[in-house]
Amino acid sequence: MLKKVIFKLGQKLRNPSLNNWFSFLKKSESWTLKELENYQLLKLKELVSVAYNNSKFYRNLFEENGLSPSDINSLADLKKIPIISKEDLITKNKDIQVTLKATKFFKASTSGTTGQALNFLKDEFSDSFNRASMFRGYSWYKVNPWDKNGYFWGYNFSSKEKLKTRGLDVLQNRFRIFNFNDKQLKLFSNKLHDSVYVHGYSSAIYETAKKINRQHFNKPLNLKMVKGTSEKIYERYQDEIKKAFGQKMISEYGAAETGIIAFECPSGNMHINMEGVIVEEINEEIIITNLQMQSFPVIRYRLGDYVKLAPENKECACGLKHLIIEEVTGRIGAIVYGEKLTYPSLYFYYIFKNLAKQGVFLNYQIVQNIKGKLNFFIEQDLSMEHKKLLENEIERYFKKDLKIKINTNFEFKTREGKHKSFISNIL
Ligand SMILES: [Zn+2]
Repeated sequence: MLKKVIFKLGQKLRNPSLNNWFSFLKKSESWTLKELENYQLLKLKELVSVAYNNSKFYRNLFEENGLSPSDINSLADLKKIPIISKEDLITKNKDIQVTLKATKFFKASTSGTTGQALNFLKDEFSDSFNRASMFRGYSWYKVNPWDKNGYFWGYNFSSKEKLKTRGLDVLQNRFRIFNFNDKQLKLFSNKLHDSVYVHGYSSAIYETAKKINRQHFNKPLNLKMVKGTSEKIYERYQDEIKKAFGQKMISEYGAAETGIIAFECPSGNMHINMEGVIVEEINEEIIITNLQMQSFPVIRYRLGDYVKLAPENKECACGLKHLIIEEVTGRIGAIVYGEKLTYPSLYFYYIFKNLAKQGVFLNYQIVQNIKGKLNFFIEQDLSMEHKKLLENEIERYFKKDLKIKINTNFEFKTREGKHKSFISNIL
């Protein structure tokens, strides 16, 4: 009860419009497909008009293609607008940003292709909409966002950051794992014992499940939901997860710049969050229009994932009419294989983030062809000193369990689709 009050107070301060969005989404949950599409068209017209009138980037894009907002009169008309990429969002950042409406903004940041970050300002409405979408998904599992939960995210903080994060976690009745060693994992799984949900990187949840099973740690008893994000959930994860957590891992699919794209229902289908995004599948690639973020319009955006959409007439036992994504095939959340142990590929993110903190910014790609060996491809030239820093960071995470080869001055070819930071060729 107290946890709920604390959570609600924090939410009211940070996200004043969230409650309204949540009520809206619980109503639209029972809409027909036609009703959902009508709403999408309404929001699309609004978005296009805001973008055209306030964002230099979109104004140019429209004019170069002889378009004006009055040309968008149906969902099919969306195809008239050219597709944009993450490169556009990063390099034309300032020309895209809209700061017209006086509202509250949050800084959002996400990593780009081979490491460059995408930064933008997210207005309060879209941030609240996104959270409400997530909480609607939770409601399908009878989970309240303020219920006790374990979070597999960011276990790489300085003590000061840890303290701040800890404070935010307390407000959300959340605890997280900071370190991926056995002692920490044991503590973490003890806390999971009476938790209601766990969430975070799917590969990290999988690795934890494996340890819980192998080392006979305490198993959680009250879990209602195990939610994987940010990485592909491999079918082969599910056996270990079921064994450790008593249920399969469900998927929340989205990105900072797109908002939540889909959320898996209890009948096992990933329903598109149609009130928030328009999803197109073009040559098996997903193209997203974020309908709710007017402060940083994202229209016909190539996210870089491969997907397969279900046929429009596919029905789901849960009753939702929201269209279904059959499978996200593109994102790779692979495991790194050492000589003796396995590691989450998330470690690469931390290795290069730690280097960036020391002023060394690298574009990278890591390839694993053989267990126990890793190939690092770095775009930049590396001084002896910087190479040493990189080697030290790698050793911090993988100890001596992996032989590494660092290739510098590597030229990344521009290619279709996402430039993956880690490619595993181990099956
Ligand atoms: Zn369903």
